[in-house]
Amino acid sequence: MKITEHIERAEKTLFSFEILPPLKGQSIQSLFNGIEPLMEFKPAFIDVTYHREEYIYKNMGNGLLRKQAVRKRPGTVGICSAIMNRYHVDAVPHIICGGFTTEETEDALIDLNFLGVENVLALRGDAIKSEPTFIPEPGGHHYSTDLIGQLIDMNHGKYLDDSLQHPAPTDFCIGVAAYPEKHFEAPNLTEDLKYLKKKIDLGADYIVTQMFFDNQKFFDFVKTCREMDINVPIIPGLKPLVSAKQLTVLPRIFHIDLPEDLVSEVEKHADDKEAVRQIGVEWCLQQSKELIEFGVPSLHYYSMSRSTSVQKIAAEIF
Ligand code: FAD
Repeated sequence: MKITEHIERAEKTLFSFEILPPLKGQSIQSLFNGIEPLMEFKPAFIDVTYHREEYIYKNMGNGLLRKQAVRKRPGTVGICSAIMNRYHVDAVPHIICGGFTTEETEDALIDLNFLGVENVLALRGDAIKSEPTFIPEPGGHHYSTDLIGQLIDMNHGKYLDDSLQHPAPTDFCIGVAAYPEKHFEAPNLTEDLKYLKKKIDLGADYIVTQMFFDNQKFFDFVKTCREMDINVPIIPGLKPLVSAKQLTVLPRIFHIDLPEDLVSEVEKHADDKEAVRQIGVEWCLQQSKELIEFGVPSLHYYSMSRSTSVQKIAAEIF
């Protein structure tokens, strides 16, 4: 079922979460072990991230290094299919622009359509780790707006090869990303929201936000979106903090602020891993309760395939 249908039919706030494919070489059971403790809370959908290639340098033993592209977490499409077969829950693959030509994107979308995947989260994707900025694939998309355009074309039966006879339209429900604290490349939030509006005007169906730890930022963000006539469902992304190290890691990777109260509470207990984990759970639980009051369609947790903290929160709420 489409995410928008889940939302329309829901009588209360939905529960959903995001997982990462396991590292190459690990079994799919390691992934199921992270999902299973959360199934009793009846997730409406599960997102599966996409990870593009990274470059590693192999020592050739003769003083030379060979640059090699490796994908450490392949398997997004297969995982979505496995989740839908095993748990009968909608899986949402993340589709990125980076590393794909438009033909490869089209083929991937055809596979997803044949597998019965009805929802996708359309993203630009991050830069390759060793590259300072995002570089589009030659013949690929530059921005998520371009990818959304291709998805909408396919939903109208328009494929890249315009000589196809009566091509079957796809029917993807399209989610997009947004950033209550703005995307790090955008010069300001207004400029960023201009492109978010473009994504929706092109035909995207719903929004999932970057994680945030201060609900006020989300409330302000939703208000501004509505003022700009962005009227699709906005799903907040939440992550329970699990270690003191994340006080510096999360702002660096995700370009977000952490509230002073949370930081000082974690710093007081920085040597006690369990206490920090519990602070993270309580903070996220409080955020979740307030967001339900606000009327969000779903609480979407970045479980990062580690379910313990999300399980504790879900047990209190769902
Ligand atoms: P875009 O919407 O393309 O925006 C990128 C920047 O360009 C923004 O500053 C925007 O304001 C601007 N912009 C947008 N459209 C245009 C345009 N037409 N012309 C000019 N400027 C424009 N990354 C992964 O690699 N894999 C994942 O699975 C993944 N999952 C994610 C899930 C969520 C919920 C979120 C919030 C992020 C996720 N990311 C993932 C990270 C995301 O790919 C990065 O944040 C990336 O830098 C931007 O992606 P985007 O889709 O928001 O990009």
